[in-house]
Amino acid sequence: MSILPNKSGAAGSVADVTFRVEHNYPIASLTTFGIGGPADMVAFCDSVEQVVEAVEHCQKHRIDYFVIGGGSNILASDKGYRGMIILPKIDFLKVEGETVHVGAAYSLAKMVEQMVESGLAGLESLSGIAGTVGGAIVGNAGAYGQSISDTLIDVNLYHPEKGLYVAAKDQIGFRYRHSELKWSKNIVLSARFKLKHEDLELLRNRATEILDQRWSRHPHEDISAGCFFKNIEDKTAPHGKIAAGYLLEQIGGKSISVGNAGVYPNHANILINKGGASASEVRELSLKLKQKVKEVYGVELSEEVILLGDFS
Ligand SMILES: Cc1cc2nc3c(=O)[nH]c(=O)nc-3n(C[C@H](O)[C@H](O)[C@H](O)COP(=O)(O)OP(=O)(O)OC[C@H]3O[C@@H](n4cnc5c(N)ncnc54)[C@H](O)[C@@H]3O)c2cc1C
Repeated sequence: MSILPNKSGAAGSVADVTFRVEHNYPIASLTTFGIGGPADMVAFCDSVEQVVEAVEHCQKHRIDYFVIGGGSNILASDKGYRGMIILPKIDFLKVEGETVHVGAAYSLAKMVEQMVESGLAGLESLSGIAGTVGGAIVGNAGAYGQSISDTLIDVNLYHPEKGLYVAAKDQIGFRYRHSELKWSKNIVLSARFKLKHEDLELLRNRATEILDQRWSRHPHEDISAGCFFKNIEDKTAPHGKIAAGYLLEQIGGKSISVGNAGVYPNHANILINKGGASASEVRELSLKLKQKVKEVYGVELSEEVILLGDFS
């Protein structure tokens, strides 16, 4: 496919590539917040080869790139992104015994549901988490005491300098809601998990319980990026963490809003787009909340949500 340079020419031309490219593409349509200005380019990659091609193109033309999976953990700037957003649409799932090999773009919620229905345990507490398997690995997503890294064996990656390679779980530096893959230029292509056969009814009941709890506190529509701030790690607290949502509730966070950005009535750590909110409104709201928690509790909240682009 041959595509002529975009009007501004800001990120160079894209010619003779096999993946689909869109110019000045609204990031808002790629995120669950529904917020974000235009990306210079978006590359729709349907295979590993196309992902490699997109990265090589960026390297050759000195274009920045950023990967988006389900866009469920991202607040993108109103100014958009000066570079190429890469969407690696690698979407397969294979089960062999208790080992599961899954593509990065596979829906995490769908994978978890399929594993529960196959009587395979280890991911059920992640039931209902938005986004893709790739995004979940990068942010070490988790809930109710389970993290995606717990059952991970290894990850197939692509990096502009290292090429295609496999990293074992202990080479990825997983911590609470963090891995060394974040902001690293690595692209997750697929991953393998080791699960464990368990009683189907027990697993189904556990997953249903988790989903009931989740849907009583989380929005059903795409208006947020889930919890905005990380919980605070504290060895003396029950379960080793103080819930950021608890502190935000105590400081009256639910009644604070900025423009069309507000706080979800059932969960003080979920910032929402009430309709037409800008990224700067969400950012300003988050800074106000952070400041108030600092004043009252002396605790510095840190963002779980990734801020993409220019927020100056
Ligand atoms: C209603 C709601 C509830 C949520 N509840 C939870 C919860 O309980 N627990 C939890 O942990 N999270 C939760 N989240 C946040 C979010 O769903 C998770 O963080 C999810 O794992 C992000 O996946 P994603 O594919 O959407 O990633 P994205 O938002 O697309 O990206 C997140 C990060 O991962 C990177 N990335 C994505 N895919 C790749 C890839 N293939 N290769 C390299 N980098 C990649 C991005 O560059 C970015 O840095 C919730 C979100 C919503 C909207």
